[in-house]
Amino acid sequence: MSDQRRKQLRARMGEENLDAFVVSKPANVRYLTGFTGEGLVVVDAEVAICTDSRFTVQAAEEAPGIECLSGEGGHLGQAAERLVSVGARRAGFEADAMTYAGFETLQEKAPEVELVSTRQTLERQRIVKEPEEVELVAAAAAIADQAFETVRPQIQPGMTEREVAIELERQMLLGGAEKPSFPSIVASGPNGAKPHATPGERKLEAGDLVVVDFGAQANGYCSDCTRTLALGELDERQREVWHAVREAQLAGLGVVAPGCPAADVDAAARELLRKRGFVEEFSHSVGHGVGLEVHELPGVSARSEEVLAAGMIITVEPGVYIKGWGGVRLEELVLVTEDGPQALTRAAYDL
Ligand code: ZN
Ligand code: ZN
Repeated sequence: MSDQRRKQLRARMGEENLDAFVVSKPANVRYLTGFTGEGLVVVDAEVAICTDSRFTVQAAEEAPGIECLSGEGGHLGQAAERLVSVGARRAGFEADAMTYAGFETLQEKAPEVELVSTRQTLERQRIVKEPEEVELVAAAAAIADQAFETVRPQIQPGMTEREVAIELERQMLLGGAEKPSFPSIVASGPNGAKPHATPGERKLEAGDLVVVDFGAQANGYCSDCTRTLALGELDERQREVWHAVREAQLAGLGVVAPGCPAADVDAAARELLRKRGFVEEFSHSVGHGVGLEVHELPGVSARSEEVLAAGMIITVEPGVYIKGWGGVRLEELVLVTEDGPQALTRAAYDL
């Protein structure tokens, strides 16, 4: 599998006239080799992991058959040596992941090699998922679903936001997650107005809406899910906002199909919220791709120039955030298929 991926990368390198490629983003290192330790990967006609003695056993286990360099000089030193030894002339590097200091070190140690800045080369390659990757995202989502089902009855007045987050993450770890795919968000009552609130010491109260945004990472692949729960009876406005967000989400999902511009998904959700009078309170884009990273291509926003294709995995997550009042966000994780969006999460939407 990773052999095929490296082949694809080499084809792209050929187009850019690159004879080597230095991979430093951990998700891309994992994607190309299976290696999850610290280090870089250099792809040329062959492939090598550049790491240090702490990770050689792990590299042999995770990436059998791939050469592992772990001598003196650090990861970048190994990479530079590799570039020199294979006679690389033009080597791509990942501008989004390589630090400036790393770039300088690499250039210093391989002065004859022209280092070429690249962006999103592997991220573009990862945008359409292989069937195995879809399975892995679905498996991560199942772990998160199970954790949510277990914790949900405990989410009651008196529990703090932090306690909810800790319990949710504990259940995901017990269920087989490597880690949460991002720090969980539990935003109750007025805190719901902050789309990316940090769970704090606020105790949940009867009548609260509680935004819970969480995901599991397993075998490197992430899930992402948001539900907004009600603690007890809701008032008219809370009900109105929740249903407006749900309708906006369904409107967005309603246009998801291969060939649909990602921006249209955002527009469909936004248009619904405009009709309901909440468009000003929907302050972020409607979604994003999910895979080895919890936020990856394609962006699903008004500015996105991506066109959806079968095999992409995206979220559709409109929200309404009202300062001093609170917020509602609902997030579905879907696979784009010829038959439309296929949900990868099962968590219920009931209030
Ligand atoms: Zn989320
Ligand atoms: Zn998300």
